[in-house]
Amino acid sequence: MQTTLIHLSSTPRHRVMAGLVATLAMSGAVFVWPYARSLGPTIPALLPVFATWVALTEGLTALLLWTQFAVSGRLLFAALSGAYAFTSVIAAMQLLVFPGVFSPTGLLGAGPQTAVWIWVFWHGGFPALITACSFVRTTPSSASRLARGRAVTLACVALALSLCALATAGQAHLPPLVATSGSYARLSTSPAGIVVEVICLAALGMHVSTTRLRSLMDLWLAVALLGTLIEVTLTLYAGARYSVGWYAARAASMISSSAVLEMLIYETTGLYRRLSETHKRLVETSARDGLTGVFNRAYFDDRFPRDFSFASDSDQPLCVLLIDVDRFKRYNDTFGHLAGDDCLRQVAGMLSTTLRRQSDYVARYGGEEFVVVLPACEAAAGMRVAQSLRSAIETLGIPSTSPSGAPVTVSIGLACSLSTSPESAPALLNLADAALYRAKGRGRNRVVDAAEISEPQTKPSAAGTRHRFSQ
Ligand code: GH3
Ligand code: MG
Ligand code: MG
Repeated sequence: MQTTLIHLSSTPRHRVMAGLVATLAMSGAVFVWPYARSLGPTIPALLPVFATWVALTEGLTALLLWTQFAVSGRLLFAALSGAYAFTSVIAAMQLLVFPGVFSPTGLLGAGPQTAVWIWVFWHGGFPALITACSFVRTTPSSASRLARGRAVTLACVALALSLCALATAGQAHLPPLVATSGSYARLSTSPAGIVVEVICLAALGMHVSTTRLRSLMDLWLAVALLGTLIEVTLTLYAGARYSVGWYAARAASMISSSAVLEMLIYETTGLYRRLSETHKRLVETSARDGLTGVFNRAYFDDRFPRDFSFASDSDQPLCVLLIDVDRFKRYNDTFGHLAGDDCLRQVAGMLSTTLRRQSDYVARYGGEEFVVVLPACEAAAGMRVAQSLRSAIETLGIPSTSPSGAPVTVSIGLACSLSTSPESAPALLNLADAALYRAKGRGRNRVVDAAEISEPQTKPSAAGTRHRFSQ
C-alpha cells in the first residue's frame, strides 16, 4: 500500500475538482476585471485577517509536507515544505510591517515602501521556489536525507527573513513603488511588477508541462500557482489598496494558499483510513490458520491464558474442549493428503458454525486437533456444547475408512475450570488432554469430562504432548 502522496496519481475525480476550482477562480477574475480599478470600501481589518489566514495555512502546509518528507525521504517534499515555509514567514512579516495594522507606519522600522516590496518578494519568490523544486524532483531518498532536507527548508526560511530585512533595513536602496496616497500603480509598470508576473506565468507553464499534472500533489500545486498568477495579475491591474481588484486578488490568494493544504488533509485522512484497514486485515490474517481459516495456535497461545486469568479473577467458569479427528492417519493413507486437508477444512467449518455464542471460539491446535474455548460456561453446558459439536461432525457424513461405512468422527476431552480447579491455563489444558486420551481409549466418537477421571493420565495421548506455552 502507498503511504506517501507522491505516489498518488490524480484520478479523473480529482481533475474535475481541481478544474472546477480553477474555473471558478478564473471566472471570478474575469467577472471583477471591469470594476477592478474602482475603489471599494476601506476595510482595514481585512488585511490582518487575510495575512493571518495565509501565514497559518502556508505554515500548516509546510508542516504536512515536512511529514511527507519524513516518511518518504524524498527531498522534493522538503523543498516544497521550504517553499511554503518561505511564504508563511513572509506573509507573517508583511502583517507586521503593513501600515495601519500594528502601528500607523508598520513595525520593525518599516517605511511606506516596505509592505509592497515584501509583496514583490513573496509573489516572485513562491513560484520561483516551486520551479526550483523540479531540480530535486527525481532525487532519491538517501542516508543523509534528514540533514539535507533540514538545510533546504531552513535556507528557504533564511531567504524569506533576508528579503524582509532588505525591505525594512535596506528600503532606501529599493526603488519606490507606492505613492503617498497608497496607490501602487507604479508597481504595474515597474520592472519589479513585470518580473513577478513573468515568473508566475513561467512557473505555472513549466509546472504543467514538466509534471503533466499526473500526481495529486502536482495537480493541486498547479491550482496554487494559478491562484498566485490571478492574484498578481489582479493586484497589478487594480493599482491601489482597497480597490475591487485588490480585494478580489486577496480572495484568489486565499484559494492559492489553501489548495494544497486541503488536498493534504483530505488525502492524509484517506491514507490513514486505508492504513488502519490494512493493519486490521493484517492482524486478522496473522491470527488465522492458513488451511482451515479458524484461529491458529499462536493466537490461541496468546489468548487462552488471558481468558483463563479473567475467568479466575472474576470467579467465572471456563470450559476448554480438545477435539481430535479419529483415525485420521488412516484417512490420509487411504484418500491422500489433499482429501485429508479438505476433511480438516470441513471439520473446522462445522465446529465454527456450530458454536453459538460470540465469546466462544475455535482454534487449530495442531495437525488434526482443534481446541474450543467456552468462556463463562459451566461443565454441564460445556458437555452439551461438546456433544453438539461431536454429533455435528458425525452428521457431516464425510466418508471414512471404516468398513461399516461410518462417517468421520471426532473424540473430545472436556475440562471445566469450576469442576477441576486447575492452577493455570496449561493445567486446565492438560486435564482436557487427559480426558481426550480417555475418550480415545473408550472407543472414540465420544466426549469425556475430565471431572470423571479420578486420576488424570498425563502420559502421551492420542493427541500427543503438545502444551508448550508458558504460564
Ligand atoms: P486417533 O484416532 O488415535 O487420533 O488416530 P489418528 O490416526 O487420528 O492419530 P495420529 O496422531 O496417529 O495421526 C494424525 C494424522 O494427522 C497424522 C498426519 O498425517 C495427519 N495430519 C496432521 N496435520 C495434517 C494436515 O494438515 N493435513 C493432512 N491432510 N493431514 C494431517
Ligand atoms: Mg486423531
Ligand atoms: Mg492427534
